[in-house]
Amino acid sequence: MTSFRVGLLGATGAVGQKFIKILENHPWFQITALGASKRSAGKPYAEAANWIESTPMPESVKQLKVLECKSELFKDVDFVFSGLDSSVATDIEGDFAKAGIPVISNAKNYRTDPTVPLLIPEVNPDHIDLIHEQRFTKDGSGWIVTNPNCVAVPLTTSLKPLHDAFGISSLVVTSMQAISGAGYPGVPSLDIMGNVIPYIGGEESKIRQEPLKLLGTLSKGAVKYADFPIEATATRVPVINGHLLSITVGLKMKADLDEIRDAMNNWKSPIHELDLPSAPEFPLKVHTDPRYPQPRLHADSEGGMQTAVGRIRQAHVMDVSYIAMAHNTVRGAAGGAILNAELLVRKGFLK
Ligand code: NAP
Repeated sequence: MTSFRVGLLGATGAVGQKFIKILENHPWFQITALGASKRSAGKPYAEAANWIESTPMPESVKQLKVLECKSELFKDVDFVFSGLDSSVATDIEGDFAKAGIPVISNAKNYRTDPTVPLLIPEVNPDHIDLIHEQRFTKDGSGWIVTNPNCVAVPLTTSLKPLHDAFGISSLVVTSMQAISGAGYPGVPSLDIMGNVIPYIGGEESKIRQEPLKLLGTLSKGAVKYADFPIEATATRVPVINGHLLSITVGLKMKADLDEIRDAMNNWKSPIHELDLPSAPEFPLKVHTDPRYPQPRLHADSEGGMQTAVGRIRQAHVMDVSYIAMAHNTVRGAAGGAILNAELLVRKGFLK
């Protein structure tokens, strides 16, 4: 397997640091360039980043000089991961794609672009072919692939078996989102300690839109969105990692609880056979203990790449209710983007 030289934009942020931690021993990808804002540029990474991971900063990045996020400074990389703030991601990611440098992004900016794949490899790997519709460069060398919002990931992964087996007619979801989802320094401690904040700006519209693109079908170079209404309430809770969701679903075909559990338990990921280094053995785990899943106990399952489901029960309104949970900065951000890159390698888009 070829080794890829990888650039990382937004390297100093919460998601950027998670990329560095996960990629430390990656068999295919080696970080060779780091980018952040002008505030950090010019400094060695060890000085620029306020390291918040629980494992030591890898030696391989400590002395790398942080660069401004300009494509001409990243000529020697094969592609970049982006953990950029959304206020700057449109211009910077577009500049890289136009310069022929593929971008695998966490930011929201291009997720709803009709030519950009919004990807969960276990849910919609075929959407990768949307890349052929992009026109950043004449020769197709520059393109953008995105991973979804950190709530949309466990939500859509858990909905996928139900959507395939029974069809979804409606959905109500309330998220209890960890503070690491707000980046660093994020939410002031006086706001969140011993408290719940019943509003996260901009979050609910992403939760309403992204599952419909992810569950949509690709035909003739376009995604036809799934068509069901979603009601979403996003809240912030004093949990460090792991977004927990309370979900109620209406189904097009009636199904009893055994059939619903079977659909989730028997669901086979379409990328199972591809042997991708970051792919979890079980992307969807159904817990039967009604106390589970819990962020503190289960956010790190399978390296943080698993979506955990529990409390599947008959709903008194609509059809079925359950809880879903996943690690927001791993499965919902850096780890998800790395899995996207691995799929892009296997499918020949990165070589
Ligand atoms: P963060 O901790 O605030 O980090 C933001 C990064 O963007 C930093 O590296 C920062 O560099 C860089 N940046 C800011 N302004 C810049 C500029 N003008 N030019 C170049 N770089 C600039 O945020 P985060 O939580 O890591 O999130 C990063 C992205 O991932 C966001 O788009 C977010 O919505 C998305 N995301 C986050 C999560 C999560 O759970 N946290 C999940 C999914 C997606 P400096 O340090 O130099 O300022």
